[in-house]
Amino acid sequence: MKMGRIVSIGECMGELSETGSPGTLSMGFAGDTLNTAYYLRHSLGKDWQVDYVSAVGTDGLSDRMVDFLNNEGIGTEHVRRLADKTIGLYYITLKDGERSFTYWRNDSAAKRLASDPAALNHALEGADLAYWSGITLAILSNQDRLTLIEALGQFAGKGGTVVFDPNLRPRLWDNPETMRGWVHRAAAVSDLCLPSFEDEATWFGDADPTATAKRYQEEGARRVIVKNGADDVTFAASSGEVSRISVPSVKHLVDTTAAGDSFNAGYLASELNGASVQDAVSAGARLAGRVIGARGALVPNAVKPV
Ligand code: ADP
Repeated sequence: MKMGRIVSIGECMGELSETGSPGTLSMGFAGDTLNTAYYLRHSLGKDWQVDYVSAVGTDGLSDRMVDFLNNEGIGTEHVRRLADKTIGLYYITLKDGERSFTYWRNDSAAKRLASDPAALNHALEGADLAYWSGITLAILSNQDRLTLIEALGQFAGKGGTVVFDPNLRPRLWDNPETMRGWVHRAAAVSDLCLPSFEDEATWFGDADPTATAKRYQEEGARRVIVKNGADDVTFAASSGEVSRISVPSVKHLVDTTAAGDSFNAGYLASELNGASVQDAVSAGARLAGRVIGARGALVPNAVKPV
């Protein structure tokens, strides 16, 4: 069995949700790259180390988050502690079955996750795979975006695998044009891009998933896997060959939160264990199917051994 280490880079936030009982909230933690780290940790054997790379404060709430990560078996050695900051929060309200979100994240510690290049390079040192997203990039200053892209480019140059989910969130960017520019720069240093077609069609005007895959390959991504909800997944190999893989239907769709994040983890865990792309896509789709059959981003019993 292979020993290996994965780093997932991004922002985890505190999640406050209404419990239905007046005056009582429940507290959890989630965030796209954290969700993927969580499902990777649950899917891979103990011979794999999964580390989160982020920044939090030194306050009690930040401690809670770090405790949560540690309890889940996710490494926190590279979660930096910044004395003058704290974690971002969001609050979920439920009205007629529809969830809506209120965020407090504009000044979160995670916005500084790439502000110390030496710490970043130390986190990447010796890792096999680095996972990040368009949300990771969105929350950073321009200078830190460059620092992170450069660090990942060097990591890739030394043989590391860089995996990027564009996770387009225009509200986190100054304007859509800026988002498009940076997302393409990110794709250029990534071995594997994992976009979701609906977002890509909206913000890049792609006619179909093959157009999405080809665009990212033109920007420099080696391989691209385009997710498309209940529709086929489209895979563009490094040779340029494009294939489609169907996903199992989900009978009881409850909450699509973290569909893409869990798909990515199921795919990567399976591929890291030696599966073919076809089998890894199926593993990703099965995991995502179980995650969207239950409420919330983190569904502990969604993971079955790969
Ligand atoms: P995102 O959450 O990033 O928008 P998608 O909606 O494309 O991602 O979904 C990611 C994966 O989750 C899909 O490739 C598929 O495997 C699974 N999935 C999502 N929605 C459905 C659905 N309605 N039925 C079956 N599978 C789904």
